[in-house]
Order: sequence, then structure tokens, then C-alpha cells
Amino acid sequence: MPKFIDIHTHNQTTEENTLKIINAPQVHGSFGQASGLFSLGLHPWYLDKNTFENDFQTLEQSSKNQNIIMIGECGLDRNIDVNFEFQKEVFIRQIQLAEHLQKPVIIHCVRAFPDIISIKKKIQPSVPMIIHGFNNNLQIYQQLIEHQFYISLGSALLNPNSNASKVIKMIPKEKLFLETDDKNCTISSIFALASAYSNAPIEILQEIIINNFNRIFSNQNLET
Ligand SMILES: [Zn+2]
Repeated sequence: MPKFIDIHTHNQTTEENTLKIINAPQVHGSFGQASGLFSLGLHPWYLDKNTFENDFQTLEQSSKNQNIIMIGECGLDRNIDVNFEFQKEVFIRQIQLAEHLQKPVIIHCVRAFPDIISIKKKIQPSVPMIIHGFNNNLQIYQQLIEHQFYISLGSALLNPNSNASKVIKMIPKEKLFLETDDKNCTISSIFALASAYSNAPIEILQEIIINNFNRIFSNQNLET
């Protein structure tokens, strides 16, 4: 088992001792990757009402692939022009797909946490839901934990005064993940910062995240 797990990245290059879940590029045509672990979903930024039904069908087909171990990133974003009700509808369809496939969901959320929470309350999926790139205030953090979300922290840890850097100490260890997302940094550097802010030796942090990874993917036959 590699030491570092990067739960969400857009960077396909291999890193030593690292297992990464690569966010597969937007679905147009079928998913053709042969090796590696991926997440696949319809990101709110690229939603298009005209192509949605087709895109969703492609996603449904492709996400059966065993290399696709999570659905997403998908979610809600209030900073974009895409109709918000449409975003919600698409997000709900993807949670239902994830539930059907029994694969976790990796979530993109901008200024829409109450909506994400109320959708989770309504649908009550059994699959883990991971908020990626969390960097929000304590109140939002508490609501997410109360509703059993997993929290993944990334490049916000580069700023010692960020919400992410402050909140990391509090995150229950069974809910924590780390990521590089689309940033130009290594997962080992994110682990080093996370270790410093949480006062946990890096080896302990590695073990915590490997355990979380193994637990949430225990139903999938991963060759790691
Ligand atoms: Zn991303």
C-alpha cells in the first residue's frame, strides 16, 4: 500500500509512494482509461441542458467501469450562471447513480452548503459523501460533521491562516482526507502541512487516511 493517498486530483503524473484518485476529464464519449483509479461525474461548471441527457447516459455507462471508484466531482456552485435548480436536479441524479453503484461521491460546493445538506437529508444515501477542497467557516464545518460528511483538505493548508488550517485539528480522524486537486503541489507537501497543523506525526496521518480509504472502498475490489 502506498503511503500517501490523494483523494482528489486532476494531475495524472505518477508520484512516488502515492495512490491518487484522478478526476477523469468531462464525459464526452466513453471512458477509455486502462489503469489507475478515477472519479467521474458531471461538474456543475460544464452542465449544458441540451447535452445533459446524453452526458448522463454516458456517465451511467462509463461509471460501471471498475477503475471508476467514485462519482464526481459533482455538486452545486452559486458563483456560476448555470440555473441552480438544474444544478440540483443533476446533482441528485448523480447521488442516486452513486447509491445504485455503491460508490462514494466527491463533491464540489461553492456557497451552497445548506442545499447540499438538505439534499443529503432528503435522499439519505448510504454511500460516503466527501466535500473536497474544504475551506469554510466553523459553522459550516460543524453542520457538515453533524450530517456525516467526509472532509478533504488541500491547498488551502498552504495558508496558515486559512479556515482549513484552523479546522484540521477538529476533524474526526475517520472523516479526514487530503488532496491536491488542480494545484501545482505534491500530496506529500499537503501531508506535511496537515501533520504540522494537527500535531500528528506524518506516519499517523498516513495510517489514518489509509484506513479511511480502505473503509470507504471496502466493497470495491481495488488493486492497490
Ligand atoms: Zn477538482
